[in-house]
Amino acid sequence: MTGGFTYNETREIMKRFGIKPSKGLGQNFLVDKNILQKMVSAAEIGKDDQVLEIGPGVGTLTRELASRAGKVVAVELDRRLVPVLECTVKPFGNVELINGDILDLDLAALWDSHFTGRVKVVANLPYYVTSPIVMKLLEQRLPLQSIVIMVQKEVARRMSAQPGSKDYGALSIAVQYRSEPRMVAEVPPTVFMPPPKVDSAIVRLDVQPGLRYSVKDEALLFKLVKAAFGQRRKTLLNALGSAFVTLDRQRLGKALEASGIDPKRRGETLSIDEFCRLADYIYREMR
Ligand code: SAM
Repeated sequence: MTGGFTYNETREIMKRFGIKPSKGLGQNFLVDKNILQKMVSAAEIGKDDQVLEIGPGVGTLTRELASRAGKVVAVELDRRLVPVLECTVKPFGNVELINGDILDLDLAALWDSHFTGRVKVVANLPYYVTSPIVMKLLEQRLPLQSIVIMVQKEVARRMSAQPGSKDYGALSIAVQYRSEPRMVAEVPPTVFMPPPKVDSAIVRLDVQPGLRYSVKDEALLFKLVKAAFGQRRKTLLNALGSAFVTLDRQRLGKALEASGIDPKRRGETLSIDEFCRLADYIYREMR
């Protein structure tokens, strides 16, 4: 009893339940079985795995996950899809449905009540909230093993971008601070119903159980990152000057130099290690 749904099957289900895909909720349903297999293989799901799926839609990916995993918890915002999912995935017996907004849910409480140990997240994400969802999953230090997600191709590039490239920015640092991203496959709009206006990509983020980087004050690190990329055409000295008003230009210049960073460099050239070094120096200076 496995198998995702084809274009015709998805259309048939939508018709039977009288539902039209909602653009506002990012409803582009995956209707290509090869791409579905690629996602599921990339997630390497086995019977011991517990999976969180965000946005199950009509349940095409959920069914594949349920047939392989020990347990799947699927969080869907659209109430209209609940009766559909009751029908398409409930028979598997190892799927729990939650009707709610993933951004509103208390994830720590969700973990306590539904999971034990590290969880794999697999999702064909709604593109209008990709970054907030990924940030929420990573920031809360939840016991996560990996995240395999379908996102906009441009966002996938930003997640794995390296210093100096035009795609490198605050999202690259937030993602790489906690995980190791890998591009799995590029995906054309034609595999969705309806097709989105953008190209997509499957990415896998391997989440490290411990710290990948060590920094004394994470909030300060991310404030620095935000300031550096907020005005990315400016030199670091100028871009950071406006965000750290308690540090005058001279002290800021000293902080950069003491961290081994030329103040004339731009934020987009700094590695995460360099951002951490600078954050630690400023932390000591500001105490
Ligand atoms: N998993 C299905 C598939 O692969 O065909 C549907 C993917 S569709 C791109 C995104 C899904 O996320 C939709 O079902 C949409 O209703 C749901 N969704 C949108 N915003 C959400 C949110 N904030 N929390 C939970 N689900 C959400």
